[in-house]
Amino acid sequence: MTHTEEAAARLLVIDDSITVRMSLRDLFVERGYEVLLAEDGEEGLGVLRSEHIDTVILDLIMPGKSGMDVLREITADENLASTPIILLTAVADRGELVDCLDMGAVDFIVKPWDQRELLGRVRSKVNAARERAAKDERILQTSRLLAESNIELSQTSRLDPLTQLFNRRAIEESLTLEHERSLRHDHDYGIIMLDVDHFKLFNDSLGHQAGDDCLRQIARCAQQAVRTVDMVGRYGGEEFIVLLPETPMAGARIVAERIRDAVYERNILHPASKTADRVTVSIGVATGPAKRWEDLVKQADDALYAAKENGRNMVCLSQDQVSQTNACSRG
Ligand code: GH3
Ligand code: MG
Ligand code: MG
Repeated sequence: MTHTEEAAARLLVIDDSITVRMSLRDLFVERGYEVLLAEDGEEGLGVLRSEHIDTVILDLIMPGKSGMDVLREITADENLASTPIILLTAVADRGELVDCLDMGAVDFIVKPWDQRELLGRVRSKVNAARERAAKDERILQTSRLLAESNIELSQTSRLDPLTQLFNRRAIEESLTLEHERSLRHDHDYGIIMLDVDHFKLFNDSLGHQAGDDCLRQIARCAQQAVRTVDMVGRYGGEEFIVLLPETPMAGARIVAERIRDAVYERNILHPASKTADRVTVSIGVATGPAKRWEDLVKQADDALYAAKENGRNMVCLSQDQVSQTNACSRG
């Protein structure tokens, strides 16, 4: 051990004899240790609970709490149990000494002590305790880093990189949960499927970069049109999905209209479109509960197909839930 390492080490001497306390203090202070003193077990435990201590030197025979009592309390306290304890004992105490070692004391020194032996034993215990603490700290640090990168990973694996919306996997996980909830609590939930109209023509005429930017703008329109509990996701390509928890058809229809309207009002010019002067979206809506959430997605998809067939820039409601006459609307 170097002198600087010794200087940082803190010893606590618990002994009722003032002579022992003073001579141990002088011996270790001279070698750069910091030494705290306690004249009985009660005081020693108080110091241990309020200060960081590297190693305790504990007298076995003391009035009041004996060394054995103190040792028992230290090993029973999870905050203190890892502190190394070296017992100070007269030869006559050896029987009890074995019990103490069994209870968790790490070493013992027989009075009158040999100075070099005493220094060597204390030094090795302090070193071992510090290596253990450093290793524990490294393990803790590694687990913290691991936990952080896991959180980061699970977040990025749920997001679509282009739009920062949820990706298909994240949406499908939430659909599974919402489906379960709707069955248990007997409420409806809504699904909106949305597809950009003539997007191939948009890409072909204005370029892929402009296409990407258009998708980001549509994502923002959808995001701004929904409540915070709703989940907007990119389902694939130029197709988006919105999950509306606890929402009947009337509410889902209003949200779908709001999204269609917001995209239209954004006025992203689309000179090559066959049906409008700007980018528009077609939307299909379905609400459940159905038997499986996949059935509801299929119904919303069929309604979306109807919106395309009926001229695009339109919201259509699933035929399974509303009459033919009011199934499609535009504003
Ligand atoms: P419709 O009105 O019937 O939906 O016609 P459409 O042209 O939108 O549909 P189609 O399925 O023929 O074309 C979809 C296009 O979307 C083709 C594909 O290149 C484009 N697309 C899909 N994903 C992306 C993307 O991430 N970025 C860009 N820029 N284009 C994409
Ligand atoms: Mg399309
Ligand atoms: Mg499509």
